[in-house]
Amino acid sequence: MSELASEIRQAPATKTCPACAEEIKAAALICPHCRIQQPRPPRTAEEQARIRGAGIVFLIIVVAVVVFVAWAGSHPPPLN
Ligand SMILES: [Zn+2]
Repeated sequence: MSELASEIRQAPATKTCPACAEEIKAAALICPHCRIQQPRPPRTAEEQARIRGAGIVFLIIVVAVVVFVAWAGSHPPPLN
């Protein structure tokens, strides 16, 4: 594993305010210099993994429903 890759994975401690271009804490919600509300801080790797896991579960459910609907459509129940 290269050092560059490990640096990219780590969340930065500071960021640049898009409004006043001052360096502020990455977790800051409001810029201490210009009081402009900051966009949401980047998600942590743990949060991204959790979101990805939930997405996979959702995808499996969607695929299961689609397969069931397709199967039910090609195999209509007998009408008595
Ligand atoms: Zn600012």
